Amino acid sequence: MALLELNNMSVHYGRIQALTGVSLHVEQGEIVSLIGANGAGKSTTMRAISGVRPLSGGTIRFDGEDITKLRADLRVVRGICQSPEGRGVFPGMTVLENLEMGCYTRKDKAAIAQDFERVFELFPRLAERKSQVGGTMSGGEQQMVAIGRALMARPRVLLLDEPSMGLAPQFIQQIFRIIREINEQGTTVLLVEQNAQQALSRAHRGYVLETGRIVKEGTGAELLADPSIKEAYLGVA
Ligand code: ATP
Repeated sequence: MALLELNNMSVHYGRIQALTGVSLHVEQGEIVSLIGANGAGKSTTMRAISGVRPLSGGTIRFDGEDITKLRADLRVVRGICQSPEGRGVFPGMTVLENLEMGCYTRKDKAAIAQDFERVFELFPRLAERKSQVGGTMSGGEQQMVAIGRALMARPRVLLLDEPSMGLAPQFIQQIFRIIREINEQGTTVLLVEQNAQQALSRAHRGYVLETGRIVKEGTGAELLADPSIKEAYLGVA
């Protein structure tokens, strides 16, 4: 049984149909990448999974249960946690306060302490800058805070929307390495990316979204070797 399963999902913005019959699944322990051009519907897919955008058709199942109509906050409680595109770091709060926001619903003090340790091991830069306010950090550092905050919720599936967006090349490598590490520590990851090369080379499997429809799926290696994907997304003819 898949941990997360989208079945024939459609989403509209008024009369605009952003997604048409999207089906995909994420197995426990996987990194799955969803790639596509600007406006293909990647962010909409993430919004539908996290529950901030209703479906106009189809279903979403998580851990065997239909969550299609479940409220967004209750999905977080079940373990679906998104690190949003545009980062969404609270600019006036310190790094530590931002991370605390990720776990404010939790009561398990000992496990929370462990998770702080884990986040600071993954991102030593954040450990050095616990008391710096979010708004004064670089783009790459804010991305680390956003991912760290999502991890503090102890997600069962981590949804990452464009983690490499706007980052300098050395940060891009680093973020993808950390995503792999997070996954190796047991967190399932669904990743949306325009950086197809990195996203596919780090993923177990991937899907290609074009104008709201899934047009291809395969292992990361298969998709990277696919001539039409090379041409459209990897900049090689
Ligand atoms: P990007 O990488 O640019 O964010 P995307 O693949 O994430 O692109 P979406 O943002 O999901 O794409 O958009 C999918 C489609 O839905 C596009 O045609 C977009 O114009 C439309 N759309 C997205 N948000 C809205 C909205 N709030 N109102 C109306 N149309 C929208």
